[in-house]
Amino acid sequence: MVSEAEARSRILEKVGPLHERTVPLSLALGRFSARDVVAPVPLPAFDNSAMDGYAVVASSCRKGERLRVIGEQPAGPDRQLHVSTGEAVRIFTGAPVPGGADAIVMQEDVIREGDQIVVNIDVDTGDFVRSRGCDLAEGQKILAKGESIGVATIALLASQGFPDVIVGGEADAAIISTGDELVQSGERIGPGQIYDSNSLLLNALLRRCSVTVTSAEHCRDERESLIEAITHGIENHILIITGGVSVGEHDLVQTALRSVGARIEIWRVAIKPGKPFLFGCVGKCAVFGLPGNPVSAFVTFLQFVRPAILKMMGASNLDLPELSAKLAVDVMNDGERVHYVRGRLDHGKFTPVGRQESHALFGLSRSNALVRVAARTSLEAGETVDVQVWD
Ligand code: AMP
Ligand code: MG
Repeated sequence: MVSEAEARSRILEKVGPLHERTVPLSLALGRFSARDVVAPVPLPAFDNSAMDGYAVVASSCRKGERLRVIGEQPAGPDRQLHVSTGEAVRIFTGAPVPGGADAIVMQEDVIREGDQIVVNIDVDTGDFVRSRGCDLAEGQKILAKGESIGVATIALLASQGFPDVIVGGEADAAIISTGDELVQSGERIGPGQIYDSNSLLLNALLRRCSVTVTSAEHCRDERESLIEAITHGIENHILIITGGVSVGEHDLVQTALRSVGARIEIWRVAIKPGKPFLFGCVGKCAVFGLPGNPVSAFVTFLQFVRPAILKMMGASNLDLPELSAKLAVDVMNDGERVHYVRGRLDHGKFTPVGRQESHALFGLSRSNALVRVAARTSLEAGETVDVQVWD
């Protein structure tokens, strides 16, 4: 049995970044930038009005002042107007500030009388002017290599005029669920049978990591059909097999993998839940054998498969987001394996949820976070802990 840290580092040694590619911004969400990107355009790109109102010269604009309106500047092409003392230009939000003007008076703060306005407040230089470059300077770094591309980053890249972005590679994966007891949802179930939930669990986890799932196949606990499914599965960057990786006579995954030429790099890790976890390689395919128990499959996916996927995709941070929180109750791990406790993180407090057993899917469905408790460690209620958040 290997330690969790060793398993993770051995997996990460075996997988490498996939070929980078250029994708349109509309498809960039959740990908990782393959380059440092700097801003070719400052934001805002020109001084513009933050309000509908009047562009004025602040120094000549005290309360009670009467100004002549000499033109109008809507958002859009710059009409090259110029404002002098005693004058104003009607202006709208986002419109370029005319030459000579250094402040905007909101329309609510003036009285309009024909081609004149009377200003009802004192105006200061810079009022309601969004000045060029105040948000972002030209040449400033807006995206780092390996950084995740989120919703606002996409908008920022678009604001710079980029139609696309160079991102790390795209992984594809096959899923094989094993077990004679499994029935696919929607089908009739007989005595002793259960519905296959892992296939959909893994499909959702993979999709959330932006991995393309090319197939999800169920296999009986039978060597030949397993070999056939594996032979197809290893055409992907990633193959995930659930169930059949433990030590029983019906756990055939390991022998089936060896017979297609897989090197088994890791089998059994000191982690709870998830001890029977297996990792191997066949050609360019990384094969993960996850235990059949749903919570074990979930935890080992997050701890071992997810970092490998992120590395393939060119991410710089392979860890789950972590937040500190106070433990709501005592948590004890008197075992020799690290224990990932499932629970709910809410307003800075972490509360374990449901049965902490590897089959307890309902508890998992109510939780949104994990706390890692090292072997032979007790944590007390009120203690501050690092919480890994997945939802
Ligand atoms: P195994 O790892 O094959 O020994 O299975 C361990 C436990 O997980 C057993 O109770 C199985 O019935 C259950 N199990 C295996 N595969 C799945 C699956 N795809 N969905 C839900 N439960 C599963
Ligand atoms: Mg099984």
